[in-house]
Amino acid sequence: MLHSGLDLAQVEAAGVLVYARLTGEGSSWLLVGASAETLADLQRRGLQVEALDAETQGASYFLVAARPPGGLSFPGEQAQVLASEGLQAVVRLDPAGELALPQAGLESVALKLEPIALRPREPANLTSTVEADPRIVAMIDQVDLARLYQYGKWLTGEEAVVIGGEPYTITTRHTYSGVPLQKATEYVYEHLAGLGLEVEVHPWREGIPPNVLATLPGLTHPDEIYLLSAHLDNMPPGPRAPGADDNASGVAAVLVAADILSQYEFGCTLRFALWTGEEQGLLGSDAWAAWAARQDLQIRGVLNLDMIAYDAEPPPIVDIHARSWLTDSVTMAHIFANVVEEYGLDLVPQVWVDDWLADYSDNRSFWNRGYPAILAIEDYDDFSPYYHTRDDTLATLNLGYFTEFVRAALAAFVHTADCLIEEGVEPPTWRIVLPLVVRDR
Ligand SMILES: [Zn+2]
Repeated sequence: MLHSGLDLAQVEAAGVLVYARLTGEGSSWLLVGASAETLADLQRRGLQVEALDAETQGASYFLVAARPPGGLSFPGEQAQVLASEGLQAVVRLDPAGELALPQAGLESVALKLEPIALRPREPANLTSTVEADPRIVAMIDQVDLARLYQYGKWLTGEEAVVIGGEPYTITTRHTYSGVPLQKATEYVYEHLAGLGLEVEVHPWREGIPPNVLATLPGLTHPDEIYLLSAHLDNMPPGPRAPGADDNASGVAAVLVAADILSQYEFGCTLRFALWTGEEQGLLGSDAWAAWAARQDLQIRGVLNLDMIAYDAEPPPIVDIHARSWLTDSVTMAHIFANVVEEYGLDLVPQVWVDDWLADYSDNRSFWNRGYPAILAIEDYDDFSPYYHTRDDTLATLNLGYFTEFVRAALAAFVHTADCLIEEGVEPPTWRIVLPLVVRDR
């Protein structure tokens, strides 16, 4: 572990492999791989460095945080704490530990011993100026609470939904639930395909339901991709997990955004992604972002929505998280805040740059590859007390806040992409899209 208060050129010159950026409350560190020789060399050069683990073979590593904040405690003898600061720690686990962390009430990020990007993949290209656009006003006017609530009822199992032509009740979306999460992925697949989008599944581990991604191809510069995402899986394990706020709220937002945006034409490519394996350490999004980077996909912006519907105390704060070293992520955060202002939405946006909390959602998978991404989430200080419990139900949500949040996310996404086609487009007609499309298999 290397103190990161030094320039990256120095780190690279030292010949170490950087596996993770660790953002603390007072300082930041790089998790690196180095031989004993290199380590000694770094120390000789006066760099602040600490050896965490000598033998990495057969081990898995996680960054973990306590939520709700109540001190860190670890499950049994499975976890070995290598470093800790405040509410976070780096731990070494035996392979079964992946399951134990979320069950112990910890948020976790899998730390792979693979080099990450230290710089943006592409030069910054976004601008934060937002001017209200009547076409986008028409889009956000279509965000309707009844529809969001209906999707929420289907996703949380309050009501059966038609999947593959048969009614099915999604009782849980836990990553290891098997059939229920598989059915949830089929539900979102069929919904997105029913909109006429190109939909694909991205399997990332044998036996675990895949990520689902839908594409609205760009008409003039399709290589430039903007991604709207949310994780589909949830907590707790067991037969019943509604996961309304975490994260049926984000999933419903992505589905509604796809309903609306699929009626328009864009020059750039818009993608809608629903991840699995988030609760076990961002596994699904990490696998996809790694694949995207290998394909050299030009992802120009990722808006990740995770827990966007709980708000008990006014004002209606929205936290927007970015990373300073990814200039475009900071610009995206300001676009989001400016959208709230320009469209007169009833929200109070707060931009957070380099706050450690944001390392625990799928946006991190994109940061690790040098792609600009932001996390939009409810206020940390007014956070769902039902988080990761069976009581995370629709009844606990603030529906007015939720609806405004989805409007802001939709408009922020369209302003970030900034490629809505002006001419030659039929005025949009509203289509009621129910997931009745049966997939051929
Ligand atoms: Zn979540």
